[in-house]
Amino acid sequence: MSSSVVFQIEIPKRGSSCVLCQEHFGPGVEFHSTLKDSPDQGIYLRQDYCLSCWKKATPQLDLELFRSTWKSKVPIKKETSDLPKQRDARAMYLLKEALKGDRVDDYAETFILAMYLARKRLIYFRQDLLLEDGQKAALYEVAQSEEMLCVRKVAPSTLHIEKIQIALAAKFK
Ligand SMILES: [Zn+2]
Repeated sequence: MSSSVVFQIEIPKRGSSCVLCQEHFGPGVEFHSTLKDSPDQGIYLRQDYCLSCWKKATPQLDLELFRSTWKSKVPIKKETSDLPKQRDARAMYLLKEALKGDRVDDYAETFILAMYLARKRLIYFRQDLLLEDGQKAALYEVAQSEEMLCVRKVAPSTLHIEKIQIALAAKFK
């Protein structure tokens, strides 16, 4: 690759209802999602199924065709007192900013921020995703907004933890 800049990977939002039976996804409802390639680079097609349609549909679906499939649950709206603390909100902001850039330098940073936010249960790991360049990424769901984030995986052996911690600490100021 001549350039380290790649397109940001966008995961579409959940549909408001099941793709097959149109049943509305209300708070607390569980569902399955699939991601498939689209003709446009960096954009995936997402489909959401209610549990019973998924059960009926899976025997006919070629799961190999999907980049990823995962199960999730519509969040039950929380009180405002549950809003993330300032440091956590900052971490979320930094993660989203780093994902926008999606430069090779940012991969380790986004990876570490994602692990931090997942530990705080502000984002949930949903599934692995194989990217077009053959690299692995992790799909995370933001607990409050259901926004899907695609975070490239970084081999722990290549992480310069100290260097990243210093860089991140500077950004938290
Ligand atoms: Zn359905």
